[in-house]
Amino acid sequence: MSDLTVYQPEFLYRYGRFHAGSTLHVGADGRILPEGPVPEGARVVRMPGRALLPGLVNGHSHAFQRLIRGRTEYVAAGHGTDDFWSWREAMYRAAEALDPEEVYTASRQAFLEMVLAGITSVGEFHYLHHQADGTPYVERNALAYEVIRAARDVGLRIVLLRVGYARAGFRVPENPRQRRFIDKDVDTFLASVEELVRETERQPGVSVGLAPHSVRAVPREWLTVLAGLRGDMPVHMHVAEQPKELEACVAEHGLRPVELLEELGLLESRFTAVHAVHVTEAEARMLGEVSAGVCACPSTERNLGDGIVPADRLASAGVRLSLGSDSQATVDLLEEARQLEGHLRLSRLRRAVLDPGGGAVEGLAARLFEMATVNGARCLGLPTGALEPGAPADFFTVDLNHPSLVGASPSSLLAGLVFGADKAAVRDVAVDGRLVVRDGQHPRTEESGRDFHALARRLYS
Ligand code: ZN
Repeated sequence: MSDLTVYQPEFLYRYGRFHAGSTLHVGADGRILPEGPVPEGARVVRMPGRALLPGLVNGHSHAFQRLIRGRTEYVAAGHGTDDFWSWREAMYRAAEALDPEEVYTASRQAFLEMVLAGITSVGEFHYLHHQADGTPYVERNALAYEVIRAARDVGLRIVLLRVGYARAGFRVPENPRQRRFIDKDVDTFLASVEELVRETERQPGVSVGLAPHSVRAVPREWLTVLAGLRGDMPVHMHVAEQPKELEACVAEHGLRPVELLEELGLLESRFTAVHAVHVTEAEARMLGEVSAGVCACPSTERNLGDGIVPADRLASAGVRLSLGSDSQATVDLLEEARQLEGHLRLSRLRRAVLDPGGGAVEGLAARLFEMATVNGARCLGLPTGALEPGAPADFFTVDLNHPSLVGASPSSLLAGLVFGADKAAVRDVAVDGRLVVRDGQHPRTEESGRDFHALARRLYS
C-alpha cells in the first residue's frame, strides 16, 4: 500500500498554463511529489470535468469586518458629506462589541467563505488585541489565538500579521474607540509578537508577521525600531490608502508615506505596502528597487472610494503585486484580480492594461492569476502558490461544466476563469493535501452560519 495520492483532473494548471492529462502526486506529508507513473497501491482520485489549480492566496484580510457587510452602504443622517462615517462607525461598533468567542465566530465565517472560494492561505492583518476598556487580556494574545483557531477549524492556512497600533494620528486627540488596538509602547508590541511566534511555531499551517498599522497610527520612533529588526518575517503596512493620510504624513514628517519608509530603511523585499493607491512614479520606483510588494484590495478600495491602485506603474517599476479581500465587502480573489485590471481600463480608457505584451492569449490572465497565487504567497513568506514538487499541496478545482465556464478550451480557460467565472464554480479545495471542501461543500458551513447569524442578531437587533 502506498501513501501516495494521485489527483487526475481533466486539466492541471502548472508553469503558467493548463495541461490535459497531467496528474498531481501528493505524499502522506501533504507535499507535492514529482509527476511520474502511478505506483501500485496509490490512491487515485479521478476528477473528470474539473480543472485543478494552485490555491488562491488572500494577502490582506480583517476577518471580523465580515460582520459589517451590507450595514454601511449609506451616508449617515446628520453627517453631511462624510461618506466614510457610516463605515467607520459600523467597524468600530463591531470591534468594540466582540468577546473572544465572538471574534472566533465572526472570523470563522469569513474564513469559511474564503475556503469555499478557493482561497487556501490568508494574511490576517489582526488589530483587535485587548479587552473593550483597553486592558490586555491575561493571555495577551488571546484574540489572535481565537482568529488562528477559526482559520484552522475551517482548514485555512493563516499568517497572523500582528498589528502594532500606537495612536489615533498626528496631532489627533486620543480616540477611546481604538482602545482595543493600542499597545502602550513598541517593546510591548514586540514582546507580544515574540510570544505569538513561540506559541505557534509548532502549529501546522500557522505563521506570524509584523504589521505596523500605518504612518497615521505608528510614530517615527516605532518605525525606527522596526526598521532595525533583522530576520525574514514578513512586514505589512497600510500605505497611502486615502489622501488625508498623505496630508498628515507630509505635515508631520515633510515626506510622503513611501518616502518616509524609504528614509527609515523599512523598505525591503519582505515589505508589503497594502493599497499604495496614492503613490508617485518616484515612490513606485522606491518600492520596485528593493523588490517590495504591494497588496491591492480593489473591492474594498472601490467600496470605500479610496481610488485606483496604479498597478501598471507599480508593475513597470518592478513591484510585486498581490491581492486581498480586506474588508470582506466581497470574498472572491478572482473578482479582486478582475477589478484591479477593470479599474485601470476605466481610468486609462483602454483594454488589457496589465497585459505583459507578446501577444499571448493567456498572458494577461496568467499575470493576474500569479498575483492571486505566487505573489501572494511570496508577500506572506509562504512556500505555496504554485504546484511544484516540495510545495504543500494547496489547490482548488473548478467545474468545467459550470454555467459560467462551460465551453472554455484549455487556451481560454484561465482568462475565462479570471474574467468571468462565478466563485460557485469552485468544487474541491485542499490545504496541505487534505481536502477541506468536497464537491462545493464544507462540513462546518451550517454550524458556522448558525453561530454567525446569532452573533449578527445580537449586535444589530
Ligand atoms: Zn486593511
